[in-house]
Order: sequence, then C-alpha cells, then structure tokens
Amino acid sequence: MESVRIQTGVPYDAVIGRGLLDRAGELSAEVLRTRHVMIFADENVAPLYLSRTEESFRRAGFRTERHVFPAGEDRKTLATVEGMLTDADQHGMTRADAFVALGGGVTGDMAGLAAALYLRGIDFIQIPTTLLAAVDASVGGKTAVNLASGKNLCGAFHQPRLVICDPETLKTLPGPILAEGMAEVIKHGAICSPALLDRIAAGADPGDLIADNIRIKSGIVSRDEKESGERKLLNFGHTFGHAVEKLSGFSIFHGEGVAVGMMTAAFAAEQHGLCAPGVCRELKDLLIRAKLPVTTGYTAAQVAKNAMNDKKRAGDMITLVIPAERGRCVLHPVAAGELKDWISCCDGEVTGR
Ligand code: NAD
Repeated sequence: MESVRIQTGVPYDAVIGRGLLDRAGELSAEVLRTRHVMIFADENVAPLYLSRTEESFRRAGFRTERHVFPAGEDRKTLATVEGMLTDADQHGMTRADAFVALGGGVTGDMAGLAAALYLRGIDFIQIPTTLLAAVDASVGGKTAVNLASGKNLCGAFHQPRLVICDPETLKTLPGPILAEGMAEVIKHGAICSPALLDRIAAGADPGDLIADNIRIKSGIVSRDEKESGERKLLNFGHTFGHAVEKLSGFSIFHGEGVAVGMMTAAFAAEQHGLCAPGVCRELKDLLIRAKLPVTTGYTAAQVAKNAMNDKKRAGDMITLVIPAERGRCVLHPVAAGELKDWISCCDGEVTGR
C-alpha cells in the first residue's frame, strides 16, 4: 500500500493499493470518530462494489446505510444532492457521522457537496472507482453540482478525511471512461513530470500510475489550495477543451475535449516558438495510444469564440496553459481579442479537420 499525504488546511492521506476496498472500513476507522456511515454509489457502481464496501465497514464495527442514485453527469444536480441529504436525515445521521463516496467523479462531487452541507459540514471518505476520480477529482477538495446554465457552478471546498484507491476497481471500467482518466494522467506528465511521461510512454498499467498522479496533483493543490496561481496549470487543455465540448453539445467526453484542447494549446505554442520542438509530437503519440482524439472538425475561429466565455477569463485576458518543454507547462496570458489569431495556425492540423 502506498500513501500520499495531502497537505491542505486539515491534512489527510490518499492510500493506494490493490484489494484496499476490502480494507476500507479498517482504514476509515483510523480517521473517523464515528462508527456510523452512509455510503453513496450510483446504480452502475452499486452492484459491482457496494456490498463489498459495506462488508468491509461492518467488519470494522461500523453501522452502514446506503444511498443509490441514478448514474450520469446529467444527474449531478442539486435535486440529487437534496435526495442524499433527506435520506441521511431520515437515517438519523448526526454531525459526528460520515459520508462515503464510492464511485467516479460524479459521486465524489455530489457526496462531497452533501457532506459540506449536511448539518453545516460532516466528515467524508472518498473511494474513487474511475481513473479520473482517482487521479484528479478525489484530490483537492472541490465539490460541486451542475446548474441548468453550466457545469460545476454550485459547490464548495470540502476536503475528505481519507481517499482510498483500489486500482482493481479500474478493471470493470468501460474503455472510453478509462481513456478519460488517461487524458488527465498525460496532462499531469505534460505539466510537471518528465518521469511520468517516461512511464506512460513505457506502457505502464494505469493503476500503477495513480500514486504518482496523486502526488503531482496534491503537490500543486497544497501549494495553492484556492486556485490563485500554480493550480491554474491543472487547466492545461481545459480552455480549448471546454470550448470543443460545448460546440459538440457535450456529446463528447470531457477527457476527449481535454485531449484536443491540449493539442490545440501545444501546437499553437510550438508555432509561436514558445514550446521546445518534439513536445507536441510526443503529446500526440501518447494521446493516440490512449485512444483519445487529437483533432477536431471545429475550426480555430469556432473554438476561440467558445473559449472566450471561459470561467477562468479575467477581464480582457485569458490565461492559457502551454507546454514550454517536455514535462513543464507555463501560464501564458493572451488578450481575449487575439485568441482567434493565436490559434489560427492550428487549422488543418488540430482544428478544422
Ligand atoms: P462518473 O462518476 O459519471 O463515472 C463515469 C461512469 O463510469 C459512470 O457511468 C459510472 O457509473 C461508471 N463507473 C464508475 N466506476 C466504475 C467502475 N469501477 N466500473 C464500471 N463502471 C464504473 O464520471 P467520472 O468520469 O469518474 O468523473 C467525471 C466527473 O468528475 C465530472 O462531473 C467532473 O466535473 C468531475 N470532476 C471533478 C473534479 C474535482 O476536482 N472535484 C476534477 C475532475 C472532474
């Protein structure tokens, strides 16, 4: 079992190891003051892992409640969280008790938000079962639901007491969902870790990359908990990626958007002489190997227009994240009015194809 300490206001550990699902109760008992938990899982994850998780908690002396809800990003709403909160109240959960998020990022975001809100905040444990949730969503304390007007618009910062990753759970993931997580893994390598890029290029099993990725994300998050500086690097690929997702009417996966977004930023950076030669080529090879898209039919002008509404925009400037060299990204502010010209070189190569 590997353990990574996440140094936020109240520090906590992420533990990673094959078979840890069966030790979830015992590990949680070390950090929780309660022996009463409510476990949240969506309807896909529940039949696969809920009973085993409950068993593990019961063996460690916990009383368990379960709340199963419909799967999918479109269910990441305040209404679903309200259902969680009402159920918790009906089961007599108290302020000393805890929630457990068993599932992907959608479950983690909602159970985390429910934990932030219930009785003004109770403890929660993250047990991520997708690669994306393990390497990204479960670390950093961001919780949220979507509003009709956009994704993740309603949320809170609420750190878990413990993150338990069992890479064995990745075995049941559908291919495209695993690929989504690989987009974030490749992103972490490109942002700050040539060593991680080496491991990905050497064909490492995704489950074996979780600890490195948590170390990278937690390092960045603990240095910048509320996203005022360095944490912005984690947005590599997201400005243009969100734009492509939006253009597609959200019919493509988020990770696919991020892959195309990273390629757009990297290709343009290389053309502007801001990125060392070869970086873009390697990024493309890794993304293709992970079965992620590296081009989009939308033109640079379309992508730029949609990127203008990016949440991260500050006044007239958009801060892009671009690779400067292998395993190192930097922040690069561009005037919003110049964004279209800045990425027009991508047409025929990454965009408009
Ligand atoms: P998800 O939770 O919807 O999981 C994807 C699908 O895989 C679902 O259908 C789920 O039921 C299924 N699934 C989960 N684990 C499985 C398993 N082991 N075997 C088989 N099927 C399984 O989505 P996700 O891709 O994990 O996460 C995406 C969400 O995470 C988005 O809502 C995004 O906004 C959020 N997110 C949050 C943060 C953060 O910092 N809080 C960061 C990145 C993403």
